[in-house]
Amino acid sequence: MNRYAARFRALAVAGLLATCLLLAPAAGAQNMVRARQTVAYLSAPARHGRGYVNHGEQRAARYLQHRYKALGLLPLSPGYRQPFSLPINTFPGRAELQVDGQVLRPGLDFIAAPTSGPGHLRGPAHRLDTLVFSQLTAQTALLATRLTGAVLVLTQAEERRLASLPAAVQAHLASAAARVTLVSVKLTASLAGEQAARPHLEVLASRWPARAGTVAVRLDARRYAAYPTQNVVGYLPGTARPDSFLVVSAHYDHLGQLGRSTYFPGANDNASGVAMLLELAAHYARPKNRPAYSVAFLAFGAEEAGLIGSRYFVEHPLIPLSQIRFLANLDLLGTGDEGLTVVNGRVLEPQFDQLRQLNARHQYVASLAARGRAANSDHFFFSEHGVPAFFFYTRGGSTAYHDVLDRFETLPLTGFASVFQLLRDFLNLQGASPKRP
Ligand SMILES: [Zn+2]
Repeated sequence: MNRYAARFRALAVAGLLATCLLLAPAAGAQNMVRARQTVAYLSAPARHGRGYVNHGEQRAARYLQHRYKALGLLPLSPGYRQPFSLPINTFPGRAELQVDGQVLRPGLDFIAAPTSGPGHLRGPAHRLDTLVFSQLTAQTALLATRLTGAVLVLTQAEERRLASLPAAVQAHLASAAARVTLVSVKLTASLAGEQAARPHLEVLASRWPARAGTVAVRLDARRYAAYPTQNVVGYLPGTARPDSFLVVSAHYDHLGQLGRSTYFPGANDNASGVAMLLELAAHYARPKNRPAYSVAFLAFGAEEAGLIGSRYFVEHPLIPLSQIRFLANLDLLGTGDEGLTVVNGRVLEPQFDQLRQLNARHQYVASLAARGRAANSDHFFFSEHGVPAFFFYTRGGSTAYHDVLDRFETLPLTGFASVFQLLRDFLNLQGASPKRP
């Protein structure tokens, strides 16, 4: 090596060191750039809405396995994978709706009802006469009207009242070739394990013509009796009490696709919570941040289908539930303009007081709200089994929810950095307190 090369190498090493120091995040702080990348990756079209069409959920799970491995988490199950299966209705093929020749857009103008069956048909729209709920003569007239081949159109309010009608009238309405429910405010999709015999679409009322004539529907639906999926589970062993656990959980699944080219990105729900879980994992993986207790990271599948992954974990626990000192469930952490809500905050008052004190001292989030018990995310079955658990979600900033507009590009992540700090401080306190309450 000549002198010039040696000097150049010394300069290069110094430059590299300086670059590393500049780029390294502040010790222990979460990395917003990396968190944004996580949300962008999970909500991208190639993850297919992390549902059951094109194995979207498996693509997301594989990504999490790689991230866990890179962070040095130990598996709670081989390959971090806790397999289970669920019944699920999916919409993998065509999803088309036309009214009097006008094409409505899947996702934006209409969605499929969760239990919708498949169908390919064209027929007259039959608007339900509201008098059937109060007048016998209207019921008699309806029973005399042929509905076979027709598309029954009713509002959400009417839909809710159907069960009050005589069985014969209900059976007659069920003979329609398809059903359209007009939704007044916004389309909100969900999932079901069952599949009805006929197509059932939900259409934004403002997109439906007042005097709809002919309706054409093409919808492919496929139901799986036992679709194989998984939870992705790892942990960091504690330095002093590895048999006791703090748990951070977040569901990584979402609603999947509606037809071939429409998908539900689920950036807020719940790529944001998964990003937070990974940031907390990155924090605790640093040797100097290792707590006395072990920290488990549970990324649940099939939450949107009815908390199925977390329920499976509770029924087949990979760590004894009695050894969990606290569980922090993260779902919908992508906003924060109006603060943070804590489900079970009214149930576990001492812990909520700790949160409030931490927040008052450091001014992390704009407001902290406490709620009671609620079966609205993956903390629920743990709570029901006596595990102290909070479910955290941010408020304000976006109204996109269970729709095609829940996208990374418009997700503010306003409260993300401060919620990270609050959660970190709170978990550290739970790890430090002497006894499980
Ligand atoms: Zn959801």
